[in-house]
Amino acid sequence: MDFTTTPAPDKASPFIEFDNITVFHGEKKVLDALSVMLRQGENVAILGPNGAGKSTFIKTILREFYPCLDGNKVTFRICGKDVWDVFDLRSAFGVVSNDLQFTFTRQITGREVILSGFFSSIGLFNREITPEMDRKADDILAFLEIGHICDRPMTEMSSGEARRFLIGRAMVHDPEVLILDEPTNSLDLHALHAFRQTIRKIAQSGTGIILVTHNLQDIIPEISRVILMKNGRFEHDGPKETLLTDRYIGHLFEVPVHVKEENGYYYATGY
Ligand code: ADP
Repeated sequence: MDFTTTPAPDKASPFIEFDNITVFHGEKKVLDALSVMLRQGENVAILGPNGAGKSTFIKTILREFYPCLDGNKVTFRICGKDVWDVFDLRSAFGVVSNDLQFTFTRQITGREVILSGFFSSIGLFNREITPEMDRKADDILAFLEIGHICDRPMTEMSSGEARRFLIGRAMVHDPEVLILDEPTNSLDLHALHAFRQTIRKIAQSGTGIILVTHNLQDIIPEISRVILMKNGRFEHDGPKETLLTDRYIGHLFEVPVHVKEENGYYYATGY
């Protein structure tokens, strides 16, 4: 990751190219012929109700799930490549999910959480930490402004503090794209504010953001493109000014809402 401020390129090369991606969980079709193209450095939000298939889409990007090949032409390409070593692929992404936080139940310090990102583990287990890894951890702690609490165990941190260390863990491999899966669940207002500022700073540094959420207010101003997802399908894909409206959001969540914008953030009220 480049920690200087560089604007995201407008017409960068494709990062994710999916066409006709269908995924089943058992008998159930959970992703239904999805097609999408995301460019390098692009910031996008995938918004939809619970059960829409958002997490399954993310897990399909990370090749935890694979599309079914039903005779139709399928494109399943990342960074121009169809075939990937899964470890290399996952290093291209940093992933922060609400679930991940609950896997850190032992007395691991914040700094150890960040370093564990180098080993894709939950803790260090006597692994050798190189001076280069230590330097990287220092850079990340400074960038995220969490160095002052890095020796505290995760179990003694607030949800908001812990979430920022998970972002740090996701950044160790300088990912091209940071994936945030329902990242603000269980954060109070203060923590939500700090978290948004952190994500905005990362987006402004040129790292792409893929945000998956059911909360409109998670969509930071740097995200201009929104994909509305329901029943395993991408129903609409376009600029947020067009899609974050009473009509589209009311239809998406099947409830009458009033959507308002304030200081670059969107809120749904009246439901
Ligand atoms: P979202 O993230 O939008 O809430 P998910 O992708 O988690 O949606 O789930 C989409 C659907 O797939 C849901 O009906 C869910 O119950 C089902 N599902 C998710 N993961 C699995 C799994 N591993 N096995 C079977 N069904 C699953």
